[in-house]
Amino acid sequence: MTDFPRSLIEFQRCFPDERACVEYLVRVRWPEGFRFPACGHAKGWELSTRVFTWECVSCRQQTLVRAGTV
Ligand SMILES: [Zn+2]
Repeated sequence: MTDFPRSLIEFQRCFPDERACVEYLVRVRWPEGFRFPACGHAKGWELSTRVFTWECVSCRQQTLVRAGTV
């Protein structure tokens, strides 16, 4: 894929699968690995109950991976 999707519709066409979408966003936003923006911790997990939401293992803050990316 060479062109970054310009609209939400194009974006969704590129990523019909939410899993692929999240993995792509994480790679774009954190090329060297996921980090929580507020605390800088690298360790966290994706909540199974809330799509796109990651929780820090240390301070329990939650970050919406999708927020502010596209
Ligand atoms: Zn933290």
